[in-house]
Amino acid sequence: MNWSNYHGHSHYCDGKGELEDYVKAALEIGMKTMGFSTHAPLPFKCLWTMNKEDLPTYRAEITRLQEKYKGQIQLYASLEVDYIPEVMSPNHKIIKQLNLDYTIGSVHFIDNFPDGTPFEADGSRQIFVDAIDQIFSGDEKKLVRRYYALMREMLTDTNPTILGHLDKIKIHNSPEMLFDENAPWYRDEVMQVLEILADRNIIMEINTRGIYKKKCDATYPSAWIVKEAKKKNIRVTINSDAHHPREITVCFDIAADMLREVGYRETFRLWNGDWEAIAL
Ligand SMILES: [Zn+2]
Ligand SMILES: [Zn+2]
Repeated sequence: MNWSNYHGHSHYCDGKGELEDYVKAALEIGMKTMGFSTHAPLPFKCLWTMNKEDLPTYRAEITRLQEKYKGQIQLYASLEVDYIPEVMSPNHKIIKQLNLDYTIGSVHFIDNFPDGTPFEADGSRQIFVDAIDQIFSGDEKKLVRRYYALMREMLTDTNPTILGHLDKIKIHNSPEMLFDENAPWYRDEVMQVLEILADRNIIMEINTRGIYKKKCDATYPSAWIVKEAKKKNIRVTINSDAHHPREITVCFDIAADMLREVGYRETFRLWNGDWEAIAL
């Protein structure tokens, strides 16, 4: 299979290994195109984002690798950028000035606790439960609705190339359910996200990390969402959200089977600078 992967981290943030280690791992399996997407810096203490001071080195390192491996693999520069209104976004000036090949827009934070601490939506279950009580007046629906509202705002206002892990918030439904993913209100929130992806031709990633990290038993997003996305002809790409070079294609076969089952016959890859369809 002709795999690609546009969502990978490294030692610059919370991943392991040099960027070049990911290139070597990719070459070993015959991958022809890959992108780097370290967590973009944030202006507050965060253990898993890169330091702002490292941005020039990160960008230069990718350019060096592009030159070194020319003719063997196409390498692309990106960042996984958080959307926090008025704080960070895929079209923030520090992101734009890097001249990236694409951006991944992800929602990891939803508003702040009363003491001002940003609420990390995919943090621990305890933090999630505390946030329901302290930020959303005990109503988990309000929290989930806010997550998707922020995602839609990000897609509409900041136009990322790829939407990162659409329904990652579902990790809090395992092992014990905190909100019902089959409820009409939940499905409606997701459908509104898909509308925007379709309208703006934004790529939806099929992210396998939840499966191999055993956070959930399905890709982000779940198969029913991918099925709805197919009806809207939303472009997809399979990503592993690798945090280690050995993770660059983990569970890709599961994602590809699911895509075929819901009717997809192609995914998208970056090739000579453009997104092009490639048969599944
Ligand atoms: Zn993420
Ligand atoms: Zn990531």
